Amino acid sequence: MAEVPEVETLVRDLREAAVGRTIRETEVLQPATVRFPTVDEFTTLLTDRVFLEAHRRAKYMLLPLSGDLVLAIHLALWGTVALVPTQQTRLPETAIIWHLDQEEDLRLIDKLGYARSAVGSPDVLAEKLGLDSLGPEALDPNFDVDVLARQLARRRGVLKTLLLNQRVLAGLGNRDTDESLWSAGIDPRRSAASLTSDELIRLHDAIGKVLAGGIALRGTQRDLFGRKGQAIHRRNIFEKSGEPCPRCGARIAYLRIGGRNTFYCPNCQH
Ligand SMILES: [Zn+2]
Repeated sequence: MAEVPEVETLVRDLREAAVGRTIRETEVLQPATVRFPTVDEFTTLLTDRVFLEAHRRAKYMLLPLSGDLVLAIHLALWGTVALVPTQQTRLPETAIIWHLDQEEDLRLIDKLGYARSAVGSPDVLAEKLGLDSLGPEALDPNFDVDVLARQLARRRGVLKTLLLNQRVLAGLGNRDTDESLWSAGIDPRRSAASLTSDELIRLHDAIGKVLAGGIALRGTQRDLFGRKGQAIHRRNIFEKSGEPCPRCGARIAYLRIGGRNTFYCPNCQH
């Protein structure tokens, strides 16, 4: 599942392996993957551009290119990118291939077909993708407990839904939200307003640890070079309903909150 640890891992790999490389040609195999501009404009604009940097904002991979353009990639639930030799057999779920120099391809692969890509100037991209309305990054060094308190203070609603709202806080996907709330011992159905200062500190601490832990293990998916991340073995409750809670032994429960699968321990999350 592509959440922030997976996206961050790929962005770091791209920084290492794609920056300085040139896109010779772009092949769009699944036209719906190109969000904007048109497929023809997308491929034309990208020809002979050089990757200058690699950043992440929320779950967007943002790749500044020569010519004042930025290539944006959003992996949705299960997308990934891979750097492979041009000769390598294409998987049927390959959506876009950027043919780079040195006979290598950058390939966007998504078995569900939800991943999206776009290219434009920094301003166009920010506007069309709503980048400026995203909340603070949970991995930003400036994200402290006061920022979390401030972001939650202005919002009504259930904690789980608020934490998933990228305009409140950029960085938590469904899995990492459940794991953070479990780690903090907080019930996902609580309101933000009901959190004590001690609970806010625990939640802030848990978010940081869950994300940093996921990144340290290089996520749960394959990285840019095809190596499998190890973070899947670190999940405590996500998709483990009926299994014993690692902290108290009670059975992990499942419910849906705001249309999202939610896993929690009814015994030790209050
Ligand atoms: Zn428990």
